[in-house]
Amino acid sequence: MTEAPARHAAPPPDIALAERLFAELAARTAARRGVTRASYGPGEQVAHDILAREGAALGLAVATDAARNLYLTLPGTGAGPGLIVGSHLDSVPLGGNYDGAAGVLMGLAVAAGLRAAGQAPPRDLTVMAIRAEESTWFAASYIGSRAAFGRLAAGELDGVCRAGDGMALGQAVAAAGGDPAALARGEARLDPARIAAFVEPHIEQGPVLEDRGLPVGIVTGIRGAFRHRAALCLGAYAHSGATPRAGRRDALRAVARLVVAMDAMWERRAAAGEDLTVTFGEIATDPDEAAFSKVAGRVAFTLDVRSDSDMTLAAVRGELAGLASAIAAAEGVRLDLGPETGTAPAAMDPGVTAALAAAAAAAGVPALAMPCGAGHDAAVFSQMGVPTGMLFVRNAHGSHNPDEAMAMADFAAAARVLAGFCLSPPCPR
Ligand SMILES: [Zn+2]
Repeated sequence: MTEAPARHAAPPPDIALAERLFAELAARTAARRGVTRASYGPGEQVAHDILAREGAALGLAVATDAARNLYLTLPGTGAGPGLIVGSHLDSVPLGGNYDGAAGVLMGLAVAAGLRAAGQAPPRDLTVMAIRAEESTWFAASYIGSRAAFGRLAAGELDGVCRAGDGMALGQAVAAAGGDPAALARGEARLDPARIAAFVEPHIEQGPVLEDRGLPVGIVTGIRGAFRHRAALCLGAYAHSGATPRAGRRDALRAVARLVVAMDAMWERRAAAGEDLTVTFGEIATDPDEAAFSKVAGRVAFTLDVRSDSDMTLAAVRGELAGLASAIAAAEGVRLDLGPETGTAPAAMDPGVTAALAAAAAAAGVPALAMPCGAGHDAAVFSQMGVPTGMLFVRNAHGSHNPDEAMAMADFAAAARVLAGFCLSPPCPR
């Protein structure tokens, strides 16, 4: 007869430590408004130095890799794949103090709590501070986490340059003490087979938890996207009073019909339970040629479609093509969607999400299962085959701005969930 492993009560995470470090981060990376922590720049380095200092003070093993990602490890009682809790420490220019940093400090608060209680986790617990997640600096996604798996392309190291000072990524990595040559060779620090689970705690960047009055969210999947950043509708300019309805080739009316048709499609699919967002973020007539008394002959627009399901994205792509050609024929215009870019949806691991939900229930923290609409390093871990989860903390006013507002009580609630998870991770591999 086998006994179920005893479920230890998790010791309280060190919230005071996190609070002190949030204050130090805010003070030492302060900008004109909010904080600025450029990827591989001075602000991000300050944050990494603070975390390395605190990890050493807690007696955690401190290590970095060729991309200068930081690893703070509390040894576990058992051998075998360990747990990684992490997020990024860079920020957008004039950004908020919590986006990214909250995830790293939550991991540290949990490790510090275990340390203070003299308790070891069942497996190694590594707090990971990931480099260069905010693609406003280098126009490449998930630089640090991809580098940790040896998945950065050599061309990116030479060819992608930082906004502002134009420094090439490889040079910036070297300036931070990293080894771009090792990255170009694809040397990996992390082996997916040696990671039992990765959890990224993060502030929620939308209003869902705020609206529902819940402190914590457990992410079910990260939405993928397809995007048209340079779509164009070409009709014919004509006199607004002199051109009959039948003879018009109105580019603006055609795009408007596409917006309405796509919105109706979204409503229909959402009602059927599909996860989807459809956003026409920019629509512009030509300022030089358009006028109030002219039928618009040219309209540029963008379209961003997101879903946590590959099947939904594919179906919407097909439906969009059909709508565009039908509307173009009916309106006598040319509708050219232009090049498509995008990312694949990333599934969260059902075992990890179930273990997070169980930890939330055990801690008495109400949690909402919800999709994640923005990209995160967790997507890379998931795509590398690591069982991955994300824990959201309620946050008002969105993110990427200095007004993001996370209550420390909500951070503490999420940290209790994370602590419980770290003591009872899902079936270790
Ligand atoms: Zn972030």
